[in-house]
Amino acid sequence: MATQARLVSREARPQGTRVRIGNVVVGGEEFVVAAGPCAVETVGQVRAAAEAVAGCGARILRGGAFKPRTSPYAFQGLGAHGLDLLAEAGRAVGLPIVTEVLSTDDVDVVARHADCLQVGARNMQNFALLEALGSAGKPVLLKRGLSATIEELLLAAEYVVFHGNPDVVLCERGIRTFETATRNTLDLGAVAVLRGQTHLPILVDPSHAAGRRDLVLPLSLAAAAVGADGLLVEVHPDPAAALCDGAQSLDPAGFAALMDALGSVVPILGRTLSPPTSDQAGPHRSRIDRIDEALVRLLRERAEIGVRLGLQKRAAGRPVRSPDREEEVLGHVSHVYAGPLPADAVVRVFRAIIDETRGIQ
Ligand code: PEP
Ligand code: MN
Repeated sequence: MATQARLVSREARPQGTRVRIGNVVVGGEEFVVAAGPCAVETVGQVRAAAEAVAGCGARILRGGAFKPRTSPYAFQGLGAHGLDLLAEAGRAVGLPIVTEVLSTDDVDVVARHADCLQVGARNMQNFALLEALGSAGKPVLLKRGLSATIEELLLAAEYVVFHGNPDVVLCERGIRTFETATRNTLDLGAVAVLRGQTHLPILVDPSHAAGRRDLVLPLSLAAAAVGADGLLVEVHPDPAAALCDGAQSLDPAGFAALMDALGSVVPILGRTLSPPTSDQAGPHRSRIDRIDEALVRLLRERAEIGVRLGLQKRAAGRPVRSPDREEEVLGHVSHVYAGPLPADAVVRVFRAIIDETRGIQ
């Protein structure tokens, strides 16, 4: 079904939109991970979270200062002081920050501190807030409402764009269903539907969707596979002591394992993942090991297909070697590769793969 939204509809910009958050582009080739605590609690807590996520390759620091809590008795966030602490932590580790704005009254102060303004699920249809964000001068991360349809999410985004701000990123964070095993039900189908209906980038928040840290990694891999542009993940230096959403927060080791797993999946999906920035060799070596494992598995699959193709050619009485096709393969890989290795080095590696495959054919 076509959307009533106009400005955010896929037809309005078939090539897709890239939204710049600080120095990071969401909606491009890179799979962007935003991570950090649910709520900013103390200087030490947000700083430790920032260092942990930045060291593993997160590109944006998240953290709530103004918190939308279901109960008025729950921790309500540090407010403007929390913004200062989050901004300081972001500067210290060199990451842009995203944080929630709860009310129209706070748009200016949040926009002064943050690189991206988050609209929480409970505010997705706060039309006065959406209108105010039209002139906030900063990108908006719009989370899907607890019981909002895809169409309602698109029309909420349309409000922000209609009122003057084209930089909107959507976020699927789980919807309310009859299921009780998870906090919400992650609607990955919505990500696939949104891809076709809108040109806006889409993040997935597996933390609020699942409400359980053990599901964050598998749901994240599924989000990458279904075509999300990145993730919004909760990470706390000590989840057991978290003032908010501890049960769904990854600890630093859990986040490192998530980035590691993404490191072997994301490249196969044709996207890139920022490498760890930490000075320690550990995370780098681990990511390289994962990538090497993925490379040898792909190499095996390629060789198996090559063998089958060789058999078919023999059966058909055709020569195994097709020089034109080999040149086409080399041209293709040098064309799609854009990285630090020189293109002729990539061609040499692939020429060796082709020669070895012919050897077994
Ligand atoms: C959050 O991301 O901090 C949050 C409150 O999430 P949601 O609005 O999706 O519940
Ligand atoms: Mn939370």
